[in-house]
Amino acid sequence: SEKETFSLCQLLEEIIEFLYATIVDSDVDLSVAIDESIHIFAYKDQLRQVLVNILLNSIEALKEREKPRRINIAARCQDGSTIIEIANNGPSIPADIVETIFEPFFTTKKLGTGIGLYICKKVIEDHGGDIRCSSDEDMTTFSIRLPA
Ligand code: ADP
Ligand code: MG
Repeated sequence: SEKETFSLCQLLEEIIEFLYATIVDSDVDLSVAIDESIHIFAYKDQLRQVLVNILLNSIEALKEREKPRRINIAARCQDGSTIIEIANNGPSIPADIVETIFEPFFTTKKLGTGIGLYICKKVIEDHGGDIRCSSDEDMTTFSIRLPA
């Protein structure tokens, strides 16, 4: 398929519908703050995969935490780019591995593959953007920047 222009809100609605049972079963409170005017020119299926990967990782991380379990999704336009932030209040990622998590086959899970974030990084960089993670005791946040 080809790159196309689509509404980020609409893509997230589709994704949340797809993950709805998982979100409810995991007792996660989800908030989404995305302006309806934000549109993205990208490979939609690839971006969907990226957002699903990050959300599933967040839900998995939150399982290790007592309630309230929160995921906040926000997006904004800044300096000609779209910034998408996905944050959760699960356990923090130690500073010495927060860069390593994007490397292929890096996992801390018994049955993990370590492939998810590597694919996320590759997809976003193929789109000319970048992805990073910051984590402290309050929040773990993945920030995606996509050039407009
Ligand atoms: P996998 O999920 O198979 O382990 P990923 O590439 O998706 O592989 O993630 C790599 C590692 O990054 C995970 O094993 C975990 O240690 C860490 N990680 C990813 N997302 C989060 C998150 N939201 N909170 C805490 N750790 C995370
Ligand atoms: Mg994963």
